Amino acid sequence: MKRILTIAGSDSCGGAGIQADLKTFSAHGLFGMSVITAVTAQNTQGVFGVQDISAELIQKQIEAVFDDIAVDAVKIGMVSITDTIKVIAQTLERYPVRNLVVDPVMVSKSGYHLLQPEAKEALIRYLLPMAKVVTPNIPEAEVITGMKINDLEDMKSAAVQIYHMNPEYVLVKGGHLEGEAVDLLYDGKDFKYYHSPRIHTQNTHGTGCTLSSAIASNLAKNMSVAEAIEGAKAYITVAIEQSFSIGKGVGPTHHFY
Ligand code: PLP
Repeated sequence: MKRILTIAGSDSCGGAGIQADLKTFSAHGLFGMSVITAVTAQNTQGVFGVQDISAELIQKQIEAVFDDIAVDAVKIGMVSITDTIKVIAQTLERYPVRNLVVDPVMVSKSGYHLLQPEAKEALIRYLLPMAKVVTPNIPEAEVITGMKINDLEDMKSAAVQIYHMNPEYVLVKGGHLEGEAVDLLYDGKDFKYYHSPRIHTQNTHGTGCTLSSAIASNLAKNMSVAEAIEGAKAYITVAIEQSFSIGKGVGPTHHFY
């Protein structure tokens, strides 16, 4: 069985973060492992507190996994602070990491800063160059590039700028723009477009986590990046179609098998 690791934050209500990642890995038939970077107190209505895990314990978790187990893919999600980013980069450098997907998680849908604004530079400097695929949504691509994104042409410019920060592939997710949801993949040469219908639901908690985990899952199964994204898009589309309400606020997507 393929093995896959998420390095990310815990979401107590189980819709996003580590919990969404592990559910997505299981749904793809993989063995999921987790290095926890932060614990959030969270439900469908918001984030009420965060405790970052120490750099020392993050390093030990990564070492414990890699010293013992061959890892087929890694996904990085919430990384909170500069110290966390640095220790992840320094520790992963000692291991043969294949198929690294970096989801540059910044602000939750409820408006909570899951990445401290001052840690943005470290994320760009240390994590983006290690990534096979980086998956910013529009607000994240705007923060990374400093530009305002209003349409597909702006998304293309942002993808080119982010590509020059040295990931192998950039996937800019267009869901925050009006109309049809178009995502854009750039490999330094060509653009590939992924079109999907807009699904009208408020239950979209954890969609970014789920998509990046589905991409990493497909890469672990030896798919090409273009195929991995195609499969992950199909997965998240059905997961959103089948999303449901579990509390008073934004519900989760359905991790079907
Ligand atoms: N909480 C954690 C721990 C996450 O990693 C993420 C991922 O982006 C979120 C919350 C974001 O959730 P939402 O999809 O509601 O923005």
